[in-house]
Amino acid sequence: MIWTYEDVLYALCDGQAYESERDKIHFLITVRDWLNDRQASRELADTLQDYVEKNAVDICPKCGEELAIRTWMEPRPYGSTVAYEEMSELYCPECGG
Ligand SMILES: [Zn+2]
Repeated sequence: MIWTYEDVLYALCDGQAYESERDKIHFLITVRDWLNDRQASRELADTLQDYVEKNAVDICPKCGEELAIRTWMEPRPYGSTVAYEEMSELYCPECGG
């Protein structure tokens, strides 16, 4: 049988019992970094990266750290005055990603 990158991804995702979705993402990030460090398989590393980016919900797809919420007030012209709208976004306190 010839393994495709998707087969390898499937084996990594479902071939092991993870305690949580987050554990799985952390493991995939570890494998991705391992591959990148050794320039072992660019395509497999990219396949893992795609999966991590699509499935990492509240953790950083770059380093696996838990994301934090940053909020700020953004000015919005409102008639002759300016209203402020509260904006928020997720960011990584570890790597800024
Ligand atoms: Zn990060």
